[in-house]
Amino acid sequence: MSRVFARGPASLPRVATALGSRVWDTDGQSYLDASGGAIVVGVGHGNETVIEAAARQARAVSYAHATMFAADVLDDYAEALAGLVPVDDAHVYPVSGGSEAVETALKMARAYHLARGEDRHVIVSRRGSYHGNTRGALDASGRDGLRAPYAPWLGAAVHAPSPYEYRCPFPEAHPDGCAAAHVAALDKLFAEWPVAAFIAEPVAGAGLGACVPPSGYWPGVAEACRRHGVLLIADEVMTGFGRTGTWFGLDHWGVRADIVTAGKGAASGYWPLGLAIASGEVHATIAGAFTHGFTYSHHLVGAATGLAVLDALRPLVPGVADKGRFLLDGLRAVLAADERVGDVRGLGLLTGIELVADRATRRPYPRAHRLAERVTATARDLGLLIYHGTGCADGTDGDLVLLGPPLSTSEDELAEIIALCARAI
Ligand code: PMP
Repeated sequence: MSRVFARGPASLPRVATALGSRVWDTDGQSYLDASGGAIVVGVGHGNETVIEAAARQARAVSYAHATMFAADVLDDYAEALAGLVPVDDAHVYPVSGGSEAVETALKMARAYHLARGEDRHVIVSRRGSYHGNTRGALDASGRDGLRAPYAPWLGAAVHAPSPYEYRCPFPEAHPDGCAAAHVAALDKLFAEWPVAAFIAEPVAGAGLGACVPPSGYWPGVAEACRRHGVLLIADEVMTGFGRTGTWFGLDHWGVRADIVTAGKGAASGYWPLGLAIASGEVHATIAGAFTHGFTYSHHLVGAATGLAVLDALRPLVPGVADKGRFLLDGLRAVLAADERVGDVRGLGLLTGIELVADRATRRPYPRAHRLAERVTATARDLGLLIYHGTGCADGTDGDLVLLGPPLSTSEDELAEIIALCARAI
């Protein structure tokens, strides 16, 4: 009997080693990693340069409390990030993961308005969104199924419609006017509530399955935020670090955020690392009065790992768009005749498959079928690792499968992923 408080099913293979896009269990079974766990392992498994950088820092000094020491490695990492992230005059707050990054960003937003003498406290997010499992981040998530067991909520969050093309919340305006309809909905919410920040993923990942918004959406949203004095938090925990083919998801639309949150790909799974990255204006407004921090924030090995991951990503990011197109086209082709496949979508190497009971009406399977979970388990039996995200397509029902292989995955491996995925479904 294991004394681990388990997260998954009772019986799971026991992991032994991993290299590149492959993982092996203790029975010698090999798995092609099409999801990097939960879309984490951007640079691939077993990257010696990253491992060496982490070991070198750990040997020199692995831990120094951020209130006691500054460190060159933190400065170097923040400087390197500032040149890549879609935030003006970026200031980097390193933490231990995506949820902590979101918590940090939510507090930054509250602190920013308080420092300006404004009592704005409402967070607007989107239906079906996922921003983390800590109380504040879960509160800000638009996933009622995940929130309900822990009600009542801590704070005030309201949820705007999600740009979810397959089930567009504005069918009367879709496709030409739906971006404008989204912006109008936000305008209304921003006028009704004392809103501190709007938080959303550039491309919705875990909750909605790689939904790419219409082209006018992000520029319109950024403009609405500016009009109403609402801070824009881009949650790039899944989309950051090259995943969608640009360094950050917002880059596709040339939009800048007030705060960017990141995690997952930042350290590619080699260290628990998250980032809340504030604009110069947010930083200048709250610095000195921002009572925040964790024992493990500003971790030196985290920064060294993140820096080495950036170097490992540099040659990979330019190839992501083509690899993503190959994966998307390949999946669409092999799944075209499968009536259970409603939609195959994505951007770069973030790909979502939505499974439905009826393709014509887009009716989802009843939740009790747990179809996405079963497809994921079947794939694992076939030697393919895919991810079923945080659940359901519209926030209450439906089935999603997410693919996000390491950015280093070869075309041959992608072809194998396509074939195995079709068999699993
Ligand atoms: N935000 C987004 C967009 C995510 O996808 C996730 C994780 N799936 C989180 C936040 C939370 O990150 P973590 O699990 O590292 O706490």
